[in-house]
Amino acid sequence: MKNQRKRILMAGFHLESNTSNPVPVTEADFRILSPSELLLHFPDAVSAITNAGCEVLPSIYAESLCVAAGVLELASYRSIAERIIADVPLDGNVDGVWLYLHGSMQVEFIGSGEAFLVSAIRERVGPSIPIAVAMDFHGNMSHTLARCANIIVGYRTAPHTDIAQTQQIAAELVCRAAKDDILPQNTLVRVPMLQPGEAATTDMPHVRRIMEMLDALDRRDGVWRSSYFTGMSWIDCPHNGSTLVVSGTGQNRSDLEAALIQNAQEIWEMRHAFCLSDNSLPPEEAIRKALSSPGKTVLLSDSGDNVTAGAVGDNALMLGLLLRVAAEHTLVAGIWDEAAVNLCAEAGDGAELTLYLGGRHDRNSQSVLLENARILSLHRDVQGRADGVVLRTGGITVIVNSVRCSFTGEQDLIDYGVSYHDYHVIVVKLGYLFPGLSAIADDSYIALTEGNAMLTIGKFLYRNQRRPLYPFEDDFPYDAKSTLW
Ligand SMILES: [Zn+2]
Repeated sequence: MKNQRKRILMAGFHLESNTSNPVPVTEADFRILSPSELLLHFPDAVSAITNAGCEVLPSIYAESLCVAAGVLELASYRSIAERIIADVPLDGNVDGVWLYLHGSMQVEFIGSGEAFLVSAIRERVGPSIPIAVAMDFHGNMSHTLARCANIIVGYRTAPHTDIAQTQQIAAELVCRAAKDDILPQNTLVRVPMLQPGEAATTDMPHVRRIMEMLDALDRRDGVWRSSYFTGMSWIDCPHNGSTLVVSGTGQNRSDLEAALIQNAQEIWEMRHAFCLSDNSLPPEEAIRKALSSPGKTVLLSDSGDNVTAGAVGDNALMLGLLLRVAAEHTLVAGIWDEAAVNLCAEAGDGAELTLYLGGRHDRNSQSVLLENARILSLHRDVQGRADGVVLRTGGITVIVNSVRCSFTGEQDLIDYGVSYHDYHVIVVKLGYLFPGLSAIADDSYIALTEGNAMLTIGKFLYRNQRRPLYPFEDDFPYDAKSTLW
């Protein structure tokens, strides 16, 4: 006999891909949470399900260790995806599926990892079980995903501060669908434009206007949730770009479609507002401004090598520029170079050595000769995964890691025995600052460096995009209705 309480399967598979990162992603680049760990990891979504009187059926959560990386190898994708798919009961003893996905996972030979996974789950549960997906604002929405899922809920903040809330809303809605026996569907419309996340943060008026549109859509009859996805600009695929998605019932569908078309047209008219902030400058100028800033703590983003946007993180370009101007009280956090870490471990704490740093993984990354660098400290097993070394030469301190790492908050520095109070300028491999760093920054600049995540996306050679697409083309006729699904 079927269980009286509705059973909601929970699973997650999270990776943001950058297709210009040449380093393949494998299963070893994920932290895989067991079903019991998943329950602890998503407390708000779990509470939403139990508060709705439903039962959680936990599967696994595979989380990319650095949020973003390159393209996922097929065998690793298959290994993880099949574990999730195998957890979907075949005996009909599941009433809803909750998934936490990024939306921009790119898998070799397959393309969108999310579309493939959700369609495989749909095949397994059949047509009448609701599937809800919580997704990142930088997801590239595919038609397959929109068709196979019933409910799509995207973050409404960038930088992302509503992750738990998004997961919770998706959980509430899938319970509602399961309990009321309703199968919402998605309606989407595309806006042919692509921009880096740094041109679409929620402190910008044009993005706030889009959020107002979503609030208005949510108030319409039959609408369960509306979302806007700005897309992931460093993925070379046909479905990247901006999308508006509404999950809901079929009530007043023609009215809803008309509203979506109008909103999409308005977003298109705003396209020139999607530009970088004034503090985004060529690298040398950004360094000059940062070093002369009166701010006590100044954050400087090496945006082309932004690890959280999937770049490799091994480029020593900024370090080289800082050495050239003999910067003082400056910290570079950090550079991926396991060979340098091993060399320093052999030399020992306090030793002085001359070594090349960076450029080990991406042939477009620069390597820099660091002369007479003193080892300030050696670290093992930081955050359970990285060995590291803190080096100093002149007025510049550098953290070097044995694996790709991102420094997004004060604790990441403390883990290497480094205090931000000791430095004037801190170089990080980010684009916009994560909340943990903006909290300590008196001033900040974005260096427009080249690399896998460069913000000047017009310099990329995309082979698979659907064109025309702003900003590569402008002022072409756009008929929002023709993109409606
Ligand atoms: Zn994101």
